[in-house]
Amino acid sequence: MIKLPKYSIGTGDRFAHQGAAQLKACIMAAELGVDVTPVWNKSYREHTIVGSVPADTRKAANAAVAKTGWNKPYFVDADHINISNVDHFMDSSDFFTLDVAQYIGQKAAEAELNTFITEAEKLCGDIKLKYIDAPIAITSELVREVAEKYLQAIIEAAKIYAKIVDAKGAGNFVTEVSMDETAAPQTPAEMLIILFAIARAGIPAQTIAPKFSGEFHKGVDYVGDPLAFAKEFYSDVAVVEYAVKNFGLPQNLKLSVHSGSDKFSIYGHINAALKAFDAGVHLKTAGTTWLEELIGLAEVGGEGLEIAKEVYSQSFNRYDEMCAPYAAVIHIEREKLPKPADVNKWSSNDFAAALRHIQSEPRFNIYLRQLLHVGYKVAAEMGDRYINALEKYEETIGEQVTENIYTRHLKPVFINK
Ligand SMILES: [Zn+2]
Repeated sequence: MIKLPKYSIGTGDRFAHQGAAQLKACIMAAELGVDVTPVWNKSYREHTIVGSVPADTRKAANAAVAKTGWNKPYFVDADHINISNVDHFMDSSDFFTLDVAQYIGQKAAEAELNTFITEAEKLCGDIKLKYIDAPIAITSELVREVAEKYLQAIIEAAKIYAKIVDAKGAGNFVTEVSMDETAAPQTPAEMLIILFAIARAGIPAQTIAPKFSGEFHKGVDYVGDPLAFAKEFYSDVAVVEYAVKNFGLPQNLKLSVHSGSDKFSIYGHINAALKAFDAGVHLKTAGTTWLEELIGLAEVGGEGLEIAKEVYSQSFNRYDEMCAPYAAVIHIEREKLPKPADVNKWSSNDFAAALRHIQSEPRFNIYLRQLLHVGYKVAAEMGDRYINALEKYEETIGEQVTENIYTRHLKPVFINK
């Protein structure tokens, strides 16, 4: 079976030009003895907005690997796919994130439910987990509740998995099950029952993406109580470890943290949990790299800065259109967005300082950052003008991309002691 290594980072790359710069960050980590496997992820939603196809992601990943001489594993993730769009990704992906969030809450057929509940009966009782003070209490009421809410979603995940096996053969790809794009977080007790259901359905999941408590808005810091997150994360890691031992799931099964970029206030806790349990994690990021492209363009001034300003003013003027696909995962206070007329007067340094994720910088604007995060459609519409600028200013942009992935992501999550 193709195995996803212990530490991995999802490195989305909207315009498929930053692969080598992203990989450079992984090379820097490897030089310190910490292997973090790059996984280029791109969802159907992103492909649709950018106007790219999955084969482009594979091509860019292979090119980045060839260019840098990376000789360790890497993957291309069909991110958040479902049964209706998975076919587009069969040839180019070796990692599939099965998104079954839309089925959460749909009740499975009564017979299916009853069989599951009978089989899950053996989970009932107090389960003591490593490092977790209070045991997890599984009751038959909880089993029924979780089955009614999640069993149908797992049945659907098994259908997608079977379809991929038909096309690619079992063991030739990594499987992730994602449930993050839903309203309510899953508790560790629910996770345990869900993992039992996944194992029972024969899905060899190597990563599982729950919805954690708190808000994971795109491209900005965690919103919530970091200590409460830490408690939940430790419990989830312990649950995963328990599920591997007891349910026969793959040994390397680990948590996947979606919308994982820029969550500075919880990275220390994630890092500590990984060390405590000797566990792995997959940190999924995407748009944080596209924002570094804009920062790099702003930095070079001239036409680069003009492009960055234009992306902002159009995103501002087409606010609803840009935000709609991401409504659940952004939080923008509109009145705190600067007016395009003011932004148009900014220097390179002003623009970069407003956008770059340095929280101590007084000019940093969390709302501008989120709006630009979802405003990549504007750049896509610029076509060659945008792509040519990426190529012309590759060096400055690449420095921003590498620095962001290495210093603000790999270091705090995987490297710091
Ligand atoms: Zn996700």
